[in-house]
Formats: sequence, structure tokens, C-alpha cells
Amino acid sequence: MAGVRKGGWESNEEVVCLTDRYVMKTYGRFPIAPVRGEGCRLWDADGREYLDFVAGLAVCNLGHCPPRVVRAIREQAGTLLHVSNLYHIPWQSALAQKIVENSFGDRVFFCNSGAEANEAAIKLVRRYEHEIRKGDRFEILTMENSFHGRTLTTVAATGQEKIKKGFDPLAPGFRHVPFSDPDRLLAAIGDETCAILVEPIQGEGGIICPADDYLPFLRSVCDDRELLLVFDEVQVGIGRTGTLFAHESFGVVPDIMTLAKGLGGGVAIGAAVASERVAAAFVPGSHASTFGGNPLATAAGLAALETILEEGVLENCRKVGGHLREGLERLALRHPGLVREVRGRGLLLAMDLTVAGGPIVESCMHQGLLINCTANTVLRFLPPLIVTTAEVDEMLKTLERALASTSEEGGNGS
Ligand SMILES: *Cc1c(COP(=O)(O)O)cnc(C)c1O
Repeated sequence: MAGVRKGGWESNEEVVCLTDRYVMKTYGRFPIAPVRGEGCRLWDADGREYLDFVAGLAVCNLGHCPPRVVRAIREQAGTLLHVSNLYHIPWQSALAQKIVENSFGDRVFFCNSGAEANEAAIKLVRRYEHEIRKGDRFEILTMENSFHGRTLTTVAATGQEKIKKGFDPLAPGFRHVPFSDPDRLLAAIGDETCAILVEPIQGEGGIICPADDYLPFLRSVCDDRELLLVFDEVQVGIGRTGTLFAHESFGVVPDIMTLAKGLGGGVAIGAAVASERVAAAFVPGSHASTFGGNPLATAAGLAALETILEEGVLENCRKVGGHLREGLERLALRHPGLVREVRGRGLLLAMDLTVAGGPIVESCMHQGLLINCTANTVLRFLPPLIVTTAEVDEMLKTLERALASTSEEGGNGS
């Protein structure tokens, strides 16, 4: 590590050593260091090329370094990087307008991540109950197997034991019910319940889709019982499922929606979007974020959202998503002992295996393809929404080879 870094890293190994020596061990990382990206391709510090079907975990929805977003960031970096929310920020106002004009929402609060967006939504729910509805209910129902972030309160909201382990005491006020189970949800609503927080499709939990009538059912329950309905669209929003927001295809609107991941085209940003009635619970001083809605992030977000809305990205997501799904289903038929199910929408697709997915992810990586595994057995495919059918075909060939070699090694479904 002697000497100065000259514009690039020498090798993957050099970066792996640095990480191991200096960075907290919160991630199980693969031993490669991507250092450059363009479209659906990444290059690591050894110069190896990868086809990227992870896209920064649903962040790089427009691919790596999308030209319009890069231009906006370059221009913004030379104009104004940061200014406090003590003042008006034109790029923030314009991004809020763009989100509102294309959603159920009336007002937007900006922050820097998905967890923070959910924190804002939870605070808004509580304040709405206390300050507008003048009630004292506080409990929020969330789903088993859900994921809402890693702050202490969003960990409490998350319905997965492995994420809560070792962090007691967690924030009170959350109760988990099974996803897509109307009876258990009705049974769980009590005098203290004030809201339901749900991912329209569970992402980290393994791309679990609800029954078609479940989200409409939640809407009607919330209307009947005066509960707020909050959709966590951090992973499934911003075009991922083929509509700008995932809930559009279920024919329901929430009272609050949270966004992050794909919103900034690769730059950190989060947002809570709400109807006027609910947003009115936040007044000056109720909530804040120093970096929230800063010029750089919101200029990037504006360029990203304009690209998605103006350049056929949603159409491409639906078309190529259908092509990928068909391809995955063909592979599933050829490997019935290995594949339990193919599921998902748009370019949020999953192949649920009868074996652990880790070795297949590694085999693909060695062949120059990045895919992800979640919930142990679920291969998750999250390519940029600009991916082409040719890139999907290339990916399917590699995956087929990885599945075939797993079958030969005795992964026969037992
Ligand atoms: C990723 C994710 C979050 C957390 O986002 P961060 O930016 O990591 O805080 C919250 N909810 C869902 C559904 C997510 O997929």
C-alpha cells in the first residue's frame, strides 16, 4: 500500500486487503471491487467485465453512469452542491413537483435513504394521529418477512428475527402479521392500531407478491377503521415493476409512500410522499434532515425521473421483463429438481430454488455475471431497467451453465 494512489486501484486483492483492515465487518462481500460502470456493465480493479443484474440492489435503474444524470450532476457540482433547508432549494421543489404530478401524493419530504424515508413516514403517522386526528393510538401493523431498514425503529418495524437479533430493546409500537393473510390482519387490529405499513411486493423477503385483492383489501380496512395505509416502495418503486410505482398495478393508493433506492439514479436520496390531509401533520420544526433534498441529490433525482418518464424506460422494463421471465420459466422447466418457482413483476424477478443460491451466484460471478441471492434460496434478478433482450439472453446462457453444473454436483432437490 506504499505510495500514492495514481488514478486507479492496482487489483481486486489490494482493495480487499484495505477493506479487511479498515472497514467494519457489517457485510459479507464478494472478493471483487467494481471500479467503473457503463449501462449494464461493470469492470473490476483487475479489469474483468461483468454483466450486472444486481444494479446496486435496485438503485441503478437507469444503468451505470446514465448520461443525462451524469450531466445533471456535473453541472450541479459546478453550480451549488449544498445549501440548508433554511432556504428554498429550486431543484428540490422541482423534484417534488415531478413526483406529485406523477403519483397520488400532494407533498414530499426528502431525506437520504430508505430507512430514513420510513422513519419520516412513521413519524408522520404518529403526528397525524396525535395532532390531526386528536387520538392516542400508536401501533403500526407490519408484515412478517418484511424489510424496512436498519435504523432502530425501522428494525422494529421489520418482520425478520435475524435483523433484530442483539439490538434489544427495540422501539415499541409495531406488531407483525403474516403477509397477504386478511383474516390474521383483521384479528390483529386493536384499539391502539393507527396504521398499516407494507411493501406492495416483499423485496428482501424473497420477491413475495400478495394476492391480487390483498392491497385493495388493506385500503378498505384502513378506510373503515380510520387507519393510515403506508406503502414502502423503496425497492419496488421508480419503475422496477413496470409502472412508476408498484401500487399502480394493484389499483389502490396509499396515504403515504416511501421511496429511495432508484430515485436518485445512483445518488443517495430518500423521500416520503403523502396526501395533503396527512402531510398537514408536519409543520415547521416537526421533522428535518440536514442533507435532505440537497441540490446535488435532487438535481440527480430530477434528471433520473425525467429520463424514466420521457425515454421509454417503463415500456422497456415491461417488455424485457416479460422476456426475462419467459427465459427463467424455460430454465425452470429444464431443471424441475432445482427450481421451485419463478415469480415477480417487471424487472423485479426471482427464481426460488430447492437448494441454497450462494454457489450459483458465485458460479455466475466467475463467468462474468452478477446476480443476487436473498432469503437463502431465492435468486433475485434486478437488472437496470434499460437492459436489452440481447443482454437478457446472454445472462440466461450463463445462468443455465451455473444451474447445470449445480445439478451435476447433486443438487437434485433433496
Ligand atoms: C432497501 C430497503 C430499505 C432500506 O433502504 P436504505 O436506503 O438501505 O436505508 C427499506 N425498505 C425496503 C423495502 C428496502 O428494500
